[in-house]
Parts: sequence; structure tokens; C-alpha cells
Amino acid sequence: MTRMNWAVEKLEKAKADGLFRELRTLEHLKGTSATLKGREVTLFCGNDYLGLSQHPRLKAAAHETIDSWGVGAGSARLIAGTSKFHSALEVRIAQFLGKQRTLVFSSGYLANLGALTALTESGDLILLDKLCHASLIDAAHMSSAVVRVYPHRNLKYLERLLKQSKAKRTWIVTDSIFSMDGDLAPLVELVTLKQRYGSYLVIDEAHATGVFGANGRGVSEHLGVLEKVDVHIGTCSKAVGALGGFVAGASELIELLINRARTFIFDTALPPSICAASIAAFDLIQEEPELRKKLWRNVEHLKAGFENLNLRVPNVCSPIIPIVIGDEKKALQQAQALLEEGFLVPAVRYPTVPKGKARLRLTVSSAHSESDLDRLLEAFGRIANAPRTEALFA
Ligand code: PLP
Repeated sequence: MTRMNWAVEKLEKAKADGLFRELRTLEHLKGTSATLKGREVTLFCGNDYLGLSQHPRLKAAAHETIDSWGVGAGSARLIAGTSKFHSALEVRIAQFLGKQRTLVFSSGYLANLGALTALTESGDLILLDKLCHASLIDAAHMSSAVVRVYPHRNLKYLERLLKQSKAKRTWIVTDSIFSMDGDLAPLVELVTLKQRYGSYLVIDEAHATGVFGANGRGVSEHLGVLEKVDVHIGTCSKAVGALGGFVAGASELIELLINRARTFIFDTALPPSICAASIAAFDLIQEEPELRKKLWRNVEHLKAGFENLNLRVPNVCSPIIPIVIGDEKKALQQAQALLEEGFLVPAVRYPTVPKGKARLRLTVSSAHSESDLDRLLEAFGRIANAPRTEALFA
């Protein structure tokens, strides 16, 4: 084996800059409680917003399907990988969102790559919000379209780009909840712009499905523009509690993706058991709005607690609460201080967020008890007095 000295140098540099990443192995996980290096910790970092990954109905659906269908799907969807569970999940999501059709991919990342590369072609223009998720950025750059990035939520700038566009087709692409900042895209205004300039609107509801809207359909439902969105992308890996991405919209959109989306065509299908679990999750999201209400009560509880502590948090408008520290090493120290208190809240750093904008990214779930939230707030209160954590406070 040839030693990769250049790799060692790069890793050393990442360490010196506070940008080194390491895997953390959980020895046990139950809801929001985990064991890490033999210690109990409470997770405030997952995306299982409704706690559905641990729900008995999802587990039962997955177990039964493994017993009858086995573990892996064995081939790609267009070969022999489409089980009745894949088809049923696609019908279930379409019904849930009130869209004509849905196509399921193996992950949200692959749904974004597949959709943008299949839908756009040379002569097209993709307009991306600067804070879009990495999968949308990668997708845009893998496509044959010209890509322009507009400053975060800056509608004036976006409109200027739309006005100048001579593209064959123009695609406005945005997260609906921004994954590292927790704020919402101005979807009502984006719909107005896309209608005014005859472009298409593509939204990624990854963090919003099951969380936002009277029925949990996402921010597009919450803001009353669900039917106006052209390409509605989501994932079953977050509030849905399982795995897999989806694209929902008109029948011709889905037919085109089946024929052209490379991450769909050349990828092994999701295990049938995972699709069965996701179907159970969509049923629960519809039948048990209390789960969503509990999540929002938890968000409000933490928000009020942070305000009492004078903690530097931005306007909290979703279960994603970023506490921006700035310096990468300080963010790591503060994550470590919280870990010592028994809470896993990761320090998110470049390239996930811009350099110098490192943060603690805290996420809330309906599975957190009030006592989990109060213990976390008490821990923040205690570390307030430690000199190394002063950057947390206003
Ligand atoms: N889109 C957004 C906004 C995300 O935050 C993520 C995951 O973190 C994805 C897409 C990818 O989804 P998945 O984890 O299902 O691949």
C-alpha cells in the first residue's frame, strides 16, 4: 500500500483549523437517549422530529415485511426492484400531498440529484438560494444548466436574475426550511416570481414534511402554496422516521424522471421493509396530529428558555435551532462542554456552513420530554459561567 502523505497533511491542516471530523459510535440508541463511550447522553441533534423511527407501528411494518420479503430489494427499480410496497408508498405520498404522482428514490440526496439533472438541459438556467442544501448544490452543478446563486432569501436579487434570463427554461430551486439555519424560504413570493417570469419552482421539503402545515405536508402547505409548486421534493429519512427520498408532482414529471433520472435508474431499490415503514409513518402523521403539536410545544418551550437565559439564538421558527458561535474551535469547545453535561449537540463547521459561521445546531423532537428540555436549559445556564463558553451569550 502506498502511504498517502498528502492525505495526512490535509488531515493535519483540518485539525489545526478546527475542521477535522470524526465518527462517533453510539453503543445504544432509544429515542433521544443514547450511550456514547459508556455514558448516557440525550440527543439534541437528530432529524427524527416526530420520534417515528422508534414507533411500534413502523417497527412492526418493517419486521413483517422482512419476514415475508427478505432484507434487500436485490435490483434497481426498473429491473425487479419495484415491490408492491414501493408502489403503495408512491401512491400514499401522492395522496398525502394531493399531487398526481410520486417517485421514490433511495435517499433525499439521490432524489435531488436525480430530479435536477433529469429535468434540466443545456440552455436552461438554475437559480439557487445560497443556503440550499449540499445535495441541491451538487445536483445543480452536475446538470447541464447554467447555475446562478442568489443571496439567501434575497427576492430583489432573484428577480433581477429572472428579468435578465434568456434561458430556454428557468428553475428556481430552494430548501423550504434551510437545514443549518432553520429559517423558511419565502415560498409565497417565490410563487409570485415564478408565475411572473414563467419559470418553474422546485422546493426541497426535507425538514418540513410531517412538521409544517395543518396536515404535516410541509412549508408549502403552511404558506398556502402547495398546489403552485412544480417539483415537490422530500425525504422519508427525517420526520418520517425511515429512509428514502421522493419527488412529487404532475404525471409527466414523474414519467420523465423514471426515464431519465440516473440516480433512480442506476441505483438499487430501497428495501421493501423500509417502504412499508414509511407507509405506516404517513398514516401516523395523518392520524396523530398530536405528535406535531407536541413537537411545536417543545420548540416553544426551548425558545422561551433560551430567551430567559439571554442566549444568542436567532428568531426560532422551526425545530432547527442554530446557535452561531463563529470560530470553529470555540464551537467545538462548546459542543464538548455540552457533551460533558450529557447532551449531544454537534458543532457544525465548514464546509457545511460558511467559514467563520460555525454553530451548535440543536434540533428538537416530539420525543423529548419536558424534563429533557429543562435539563438542557439548566446545562446551558451552568456553562454560561464557564469562561470558555462566553461566546454563547449575548
Ligand atoms: N435536503 C435537505 C435540505 C437535507 O437537509 C438533507 C439531509 O440532510 C437532504 C436533502 C438529504 O436527505 P437524505 O438524508 O434523505 O439523503
